[in-house]
Amino acid sequence: MALTFLKNCESIGIQLTNTMMNQFETYYDYLISQNEVMNLTAITDKEEVFLKHFFDSLWLTKVGSFDNVTLLDVGSGAGFPSLPLKIINPSIKVTIVDALQKRIDFLKRLSDKLSINDNKLIHGRIEEFIMKNYFNYVTARAVARLNILTELCLPFVKVGGKFIAMKSINYEEELEEAKHAIDKLGGVLEEVIEYPLEDGLNHVLIIIKKVRNTTDFYPRSFSLIKKKPL
Ligand code: SAM
Repeated sequence: MALTFLKNCESIGIQLTNTMMNQFETYYDYLISQNEVMNLTAITDKEEVFLKHFFDSLWLTKVGSFDNVTLLDVGSGAGFPSLPLKIINPSIKVTIVDALQKRIDFLKRLSDKLSINDNKLIHGRIEEFIMKNYFNYVTARAVARLNILTELCLPFVKVGGKFIAMKSINYEEELEEAKHAIDKLGGVLEEVIEYPLEDGLNHVLIIIKKVRNTTDFYPRSFSLIKKKPL
Protein backbone atom coordinates (compact mmCIF):
# COMPACT_ATOMS: atom_id res chain seq x y z
CA MET A 1 0.00 0.00 0.00
CA ALA A 2 2.72 2.50 1.02
CA LEU A 3 4.55 1.63 -2.18
CA THR A 4 1.47 2.27 -4.34
CA PHE A 5 0.98 5.66 -2.68
CA LEU A 6 4.65 6.55 -3.17
CA LYS A 7 4.43 5.54 -6.83
CA ASN A 8 1.17 7.41 -7.38
CA CYS A 9 2.74 10.53 -5.90
CA GLU A 10 5.85 10.12 -8.03
CA SER A 11 3.65 9.84 -11.12
CA ILE A 12 2.45 13.42 -10.53
CA GLY A 13 5.89 14.74 -9.61
CA ILE A 14 5.72 14.51 -5.80
CA GLN A 15 8.63 12.89 -3.96
CA LEU A 16 7.52 11.87 -0.48
CA THR A 17 10.08 11.94 2.34
CA ASN A 18 9.98 9.52 5.29
CA THR A 19 8.65 12.33 7.48
CA MET A 20 5.76 12.96 5.07
CA MET A 21 4.99 9.25 4.81
CA ASN A 22 4.91 9.00 8.62
CA GLN A 23 2.58 12.00 8.75
CA PHE A 24 0.18 10.32 6.29
CA GLU A 25 0.27 7.13 8.41
CA THR A 26 -0.50 9.20 11.54
CA TYR A 27 -3.28 11.02 9.66
CA TYR A 28 -4.86 7.71 8.60
CA ASP A 29 -4.66 6.14 12.09
CA TYR A 30 -6.15 9.18 13.80
CA LEU A 31 -8.87 9.65 11.15
CA ILE A 32 -10.01 6.06 11.57
CA SER A 33 -9.89 6.06 15.37
CA GLN A 34 -11.91 9.30 15.55
CA ASN A 35 -14.32 8.12 12.87
CA GLU A 36 -15.66 5.70 15.46
CA VAL A 37 -16.85 8.55 17.64
CA MET A 38 -17.84 11.10 14.99
CA ASN A 39 -18.75 11.09 11.34
CA LEU A 40 -15.61 12.00 9.38
CA THR A 41 -15.37 9.66 6.40
CA ALA A 42 -17.44 7.00 4.68
CA ILE A 43 -14.22 5.51 3.28
CA THR A 44 -12.20 3.62 5.89
CA ASP A 45 -10.21 0.97 3.99
CA LYS A 46 -6.57 2.04 4.16
CA GLU A 47 -5.81 1.70 0.46
CA GLU A 48 -8.96 3.65 -0.42
CA VAL A 49 -8.27 6.46 2.05
CA PHE A 50 -4.77 6.87 0.66
CA LEU A 51 -6.13 6.92 -2.89
CA LYS A 52 -9.46 8.73 -2.64
CA HIS A 53 -8.65 11.23 0.10
CA PHE A 54 -4.86 11.73 0.23
CA PHE A 55 -3.84 11.18 -3.41
CA ASP A 56 -6.96 12.86 -4.77
CA SER A 57 -6.16 15.98 -2.69
CA LEU A 58 -2.59 16.03 -4.01
CA TRP A 59 -3.77 16.39 -7.61
CA LEU A 60 -4.23 20.08 -6.79
CA THR A 61 -0.48 20.46 -7.21
CA LYS A 62 -1.14 20.23 -10.97
CA VAL A 63 -2.56 23.76 -10.84
CA GLY A 64 0.79 25.45 -10.13
CA SER A 65 3.23 26.31 -7.39
CA PHE A 66 1.89 26.38 -3.84
CA ASP A 67 5.09 27.70 -2.26
CA ASN A 68 4.28 30.24 0.47
CA VAL A 69 0.72 30.81 -0.77
CA THR A 70 -2.33 31.54 1.33
CA LEU A 71 -4.95 28.83 0.83
CA LEU A 72 -8.51 28.77 2.14
CA ASP A 73 -10.24 25.36 2.25
CA VAL A 74 -14.00 25.82 2.46
CA GLY A 75 -15.89 22.97 4.20
CA SER A 76 -12.75 20.91 4.69
CA GLY A 77 -14.45 18.27 6.86
CA ALA A 78 -11.68 15.87 7.88
CA GLY A 79 -9.06 18.06 6.17
CA PHE A 80 -9.51 17.50 2.43
CA PRO A 81 -7.95 18.71 0.28
CA SER A 82 -5.80 21.17 2.28
CA LEU A 83 -4.09 18.98 4.88
CA PRO A 84 -2.48 16.48 2.48
CA LEU A 85 -1.19 19.51 0.56
CA LYS A 86 0.17 21.05 3.76
CA ILE A 87 2.00 17.79 4.55
CA ILE A 88 3.86 17.82 1.25
CA ASN A 89 4.43 21.59 1.30
CA PRO A 90 4.69 23.04 4.83
CA SER A 91 5.17 26.57 3.43
CA ILE A 92 1.46 26.80 2.52
CA LYS A 93 -0.49 29.05 4.89
CA VAL A 94 -3.69 27.05 5.36
CA THR A 95 -6.98 28.48 6.62
CA ILE A 96 -9.94 26.13 7.04
CA VAL A 97 -13.51 27.25 7.65
CA ASP A 98 -16.02 24.55 8.52
CA ALA A 99 -19.53 24.86 9.92
CA LEU A 100 -19.16 21.87 12.25
CA GLN A 101 -17.36 22.51 15.55
CA LYS A 102 -16.61 18.82 16.08
CA ARG A 103 -14.69 18.65 12.81
CA ILE A 104 -12.68 21.77 13.64
CA ASP A 105 -11.83 20.25 17.04
CA PHE A 106 -10.72 17.08 15.26
CA LEU A 107 -8.54 19.11 12.88
CA LYS A 108 -6.92 20.92 15.83
CA ARG A 109 -5.98 17.64 17.50
CA LEU A 110 -4.86 16.17 14.17
CA SER A 111 -2.65 19.22 13.43
CA ASP A 112 -0.97 18.71 16.84
CA LYS A 113 -0.32 15.06 16.06
CA LEU A 114 1.18 16.03 12.71
CA SER A 115 3.33 18.71 14.41
CA ILE A 116 1.74 21.42 12.26
CA ASN A 117 1.23 24.53 14.35
CA ASP A 118 0.35 27.27 11.89
CA ASN A 119 -3.00 26.10 10.46
CA LYS A 120 -5.84 28.56 11.04
CA LEU A 121 -8.88 26.44 11.89
CA ILE A 122 -12.09 28.41 12.08
CA HIS A 123 -15.51 27.22 13.11
CA GLY A 124 -18.23 29.07 11.22
CA ARG A 125 -20.21 29.44 8.06
CA ILE A 126 -18.19 30.70 5.14
CA GLU A 127 -20.93 33.22 4.18
CA GLU A 128 -20.08 35.06 7.42
CA PHE A 129 -16.33 35.02 6.90
CA ILE A 130 -14.80 38.47 6.36
CA MET A 131 -11.43 38.00 4.61
CA LYS A 132 -12.70 38.92 1.15
CA ASN A 133 -10.44 39.32 -1.90
CA TYR A 134 -7.57 37.97 0.23
CA PHE A 135 -6.39 34.41 -0.58
CA ASN A 136 -4.09 33.15 -3.38
CA TYR A 137 -6.14 29.96 -3.58
CA VAL A 138 -9.58 28.92 -2.37
CA THR A 139 -10.48 25.23 -2.66
CA ALA A 140 -13.51 23.09 -1.94
CA ARG A 141 -14.36 19.42 -2.41
CA ALA A 142 -17.80 17.86 -1.93
CA VAL A 143 -19.46 20.95 -0.45
CA ALA A 144 -22.14 22.20 -2.89
CA ARG A 145 -23.15 22.47 -6.54
CA LEU A 146 -20.85 24.76 -8.49
CA ASN A 147 -23.25 27.70 -8.88
CA ILE A 148 -23.70 27.84 -5.10
CA LEU A 149 -20.09 26.93 -4.33
CA THR A 150 -18.83 29.78 -6.51
CA GLU A 151 -20.61 32.32 -4.31
CA LEU A 152 -19.23 30.58 -1.21
CA CYS A 153 -15.63 30.61 -2.47
CA LEU A 154 -14.83 33.16 -5.18
CA PRO A 155 -15.39 36.31 -3.02
CA PHE A 156 -12.42 35.28 -0.85
CA VAL A 157 -9.89 34.95 -3.70
CA LYS A 158 -7.62 37.93 -4.38
CA VAL A 159 -7.26 39.31 -7.90
CA GLY A 160 -4.74 37.10 -9.73
CA GLY A 161 -5.54 34.14 -7.45
CA LYS A 162 -7.62 31.06 -8.18
CA PHE A 163 -10.70 29.24 -6.96
CA ILE A 164 -10.31 25.50 -7.55
CA ALA A 165 -13.42 23.34 -7.32
CA MET A 166 -12.81 19.60 -7.10
CA LYS A 167 -15.57 17.76 -8.91
CA SER A 168 -16.16 14.44 -10.61
CA ILE A 169 -16.97 13.83 -14.22
CA ASN A 170 -20.31 15.15 -15.56
CA TYR A 171 -19.29 18.57 -14.33
CA GLU A 172 -20.32 20.27 -17.60
CA GLU A 173 -23.91 20.94 -16.58
CA GLU A 174 -22.78 22.39 -13.24
CA LEU A 175 -20.26 24.60 -15.01
CA GLU A 176 -22.89 25.90 -17.42
CA GLU A 177 -25.17 26.68 -14.47
CA ALA A 178 -22.34 28.53 -12.67
CA LYS A 179 -21.24 30.78 -15.56
CA HIS A 180 -23.24 33.78 -14.47
CA ALA A 181 -22.02 33.51 -10.86
CA ILE A 182 -18.39 33.23 -12.00
CA ASP A 183 -18.68 36.42 -14.04
CA LYS A 184 -20.73 38.36 -11.49
CA LEU A 185 -18.25 37.62 -8.70
CA GLY A 186 -15.19 38.67 -10.72
CA GLY A 187 -13.92 35.38 -12.14
CA VAL A 188 -13.14 33.78 -15.49
CA LEU A 189 -12.90 30.09 -16.22
CA GLU A 190 -9.21 29.39 -16.77
CA GLU A 191 -8.99 25.63 -17.26
CA VAL A 192 -10.55 22.28 -16.45
CA ILE A 193 -8.05 19.53 -15.61
CA GLU A 194 -9.40 15.99 -15.86
CA TYR A 195 -7.55 13.22 -14.07
CA PRO A 196 -8.07 9.50 -13.49
CA LEU A 197 -8.23 8.11 -9.95
CA GLU A 198 -8.25 4.36 -10.55
CA ASP A 199 -11.71 4.18 -9.00
CA GLY A 200 -13.40 3.98 -12.38
CA LEU A 201 -14.35 7.64 -12.26
CA ASN A 202 -12.53 10.59 -13.69
CA HIS A 203 -12.23 13.62 -11.46
CA VAL A 204 -11.80 17.24 -12.45
CA LEU A 205 -10.29 20.43 -11.15
CA ILE A 206 -12.28 23.44 -12.28
CA ILE A 207 -9.95 26.40 -12.13
CA ILE A 208 -11.44 29.88 -11.98
CA LYS A 209 -9.17 32.89 -12.05
CA LYS A 210 -10.08 36.03 -10.15
CA VAL A 211 -9.82 39.06 -12.41
CA ARG A 212 -11.84 41.68 -10.51
CA ASN A 213 -12.57 42.26 -6.82
CA THR A 214 -15.95 40.94 -5.65
CA THR A 215 -18.23 43.64 -4.24
CA ASP A 216 -18.94 43.57 -0.50
CA PHE A 217 -22.49 42.46 -1.14
CA TYR A 218 -21.38 38.83 -1.73
CA PRO A 219 -21.63 36.19 -0.46
CA ARG A 220 -25.27 36.66 0.52
CA SER A 221 -26.95 34.67 3.33
CA PHE A 222 -27.08 30.95 2.63
CA SER A 223 -30.88 30.95 2.41
CA LEU A 224 -30.72 33.58 -0.35
CA ILE A 225 -27.89 31.84 -2.18
CA LYS A 226 -29.94 28.64 -2.20
CA LYS A 227 -33.24 30.25 -3.04
CA LYS A 228 -31.86 32.52 -5.78
CA PRO A 229 -28.52 31.22 -7.05
CA LEU A 230 -26.74 33.78 -9.22
N1 SAM B 1 -14.11 18.69 1.82
C1 SAM B 1 -14.23 17.47 2.61
C2 SAM B 1 -14.05 16.26 1.73
O1 SAM B 1 -13.96 16.40 0.52
O2 SAM B 1 -13.99 15.14 2.27
C3 SAM B 1 -15.52 17.43 3.41
C4 SAM B 1 -16.79 17.36 2.62
S1 SAM B 1 -18.20 17.30 3.66
C5 SAM B 1 -19.30 16.40 2.63
C6 SAM B 1 -18.83 18.95 3.57
C7 SAM B 1 -18.26 19.86 4.68
O3 SAM B 1 -18.62 21.19 4.36
C8 SAM B 1 -18.84 19.56 6.06
O4 SAM B 1 -17.79 19.39 6.98
C9 SAM B 1 -19.70 20.79 6.39
O5 SAM B 1 -19.69 21.10 7.76
C10 SAM B 1 -19.02 21.86 5.55
N2 SAM B 1 -19.89 22.97 5.12
C11 SAM B 1 -21.03 22.88 4.36
N3 SAM B 1 -21.53 24.12 4.13
C12 SAM B 1 -20.69 25.00 4.74
C13 SAM B 1 -20.67 26.43 4.88
N4 SAM B 1 -21.62 27.19 4.34
N5 SAM B 1 -19.65 27.01 5.58
C14 SAM B 1 -18.68 26.24 6.13
N6 SAM B 1 -18.66 24.89 6.04
C15 SAM B 1 -19.65 24.27 5.36
